[in-house]
Amino acid sequence: MIRLEQLHEWLEKANEKIQNNKEFLTQLDQAIGDGDHGINMSRGFKEAINKIRASTYHDIGSFFQDVSMVFIAKVGGASGPLYGTAFMKAAMALKGKSVLTIQELAFALKESVSGIKMRGNAQAGEKTMLDVWEPVVDYLASSGDSFPWQEVRRISLEQMEHTRQMEARKGRAAYLGSRSVGHLDPGSVSSAYLFEALAETMEGSEAT
Ligand code: ADP
Ligand code: MG
Repeated sequence: MIRLEQLHEWLEKANEKIQNNKEFLTQLDQAIGDGDHGINMSRGFKEAINKIRASTYHDIGSFFQDVSMVFIAKVGGASGPLYGTAFMKAAMALKGKSVLTIQELAFALKESVSGIKMRGNAQAGEKTMLDVWEPVVDYLASSGDSFPWQEVRRISLEQMEHTRQMEARKGRAAYLGSRSVGHLDPGSVSSAYLFEALAETMEGSEAT
């Protein structure tokens, strides 16, 4: 079973990766956007961590709800509301729960993927964060309650890398058309950090 402390640890690890790679995310967004993705993600995760460190939770729904509110209220750009929606949908799916199976987490993250699609009016293949979210969550949802987390990390990085060859069809990068080809999508990179952090948290714990 996955406990609240592990979900907290997940976001702590994700925050570390985001803070360590803030400049890299900025550079990626300078190439095909406006250069604020590092700043947006750095602020969002820092504030989310401050919020969850300062509170005690018994309900996984309210934990994700708080994270969601930070991204929606404090983070600009396209990515703030999109990450905010993802955490909001997970919060709604997990309301009232204090422990989770991997399948329950996967189901909640499937709701997140639907939320991102709806909010961004996007689909996989358009060079956005969805190109990591959808395949990774599909893998989680299809894999039963025991599987190698190493594979989650591998798929995250592979799908992130896959955005390099795509032409952007959503967000600011879409203005560049075919000139967006050859660059990683910044949001797919921040999303890969999130799922790598999940894999590392679960690998290092008793949860299978
Ligand atoms: P902005 O594009 O407003 O400057 P950010 O730079 O923080 O915001 O985030 C850009 C990232 O947001 C992109 O790399 C992409 O992954 C994601 N993104 C942008 N638009 C959409 C959309 N419509 N649907 C899904 N993801 C999107
Ligand atoms: Mg930007």
